[in-house]
Amino acid sequence: MEEKGHKCAQCLKTFPSSQQLTQHSLVHSNVRKYPCAYCDKAFKQLSHVQQHQRIHTGLNMTESVV
Ligand SMILES: [Zn+2]
Ligand SMILES: [Zn+2]
Repeated sequence: MEEKGHKCAQCLKTFPSSQQLTQHSLVHSNVRKYPCAYCDKAFKQLSHVQQHQRIHTGLNMTESVV
């Protein structure tokens, strides 16, 4: 058979099983280094996460100190 393995479309590596390819493909989808601690979003820059996390922590610009 010609089909040696399952080729990754991103880096053209081949894997003997589709399961391994699926697992490998995560390295391409997980390029974002800074995950949000509150939800499953992730960002490429730390400042972006910090800005995003405000929606979870409720740190608004408004000083609503009662
Ligand atoms: Zn790959
Ligand atoms: Zn989040």
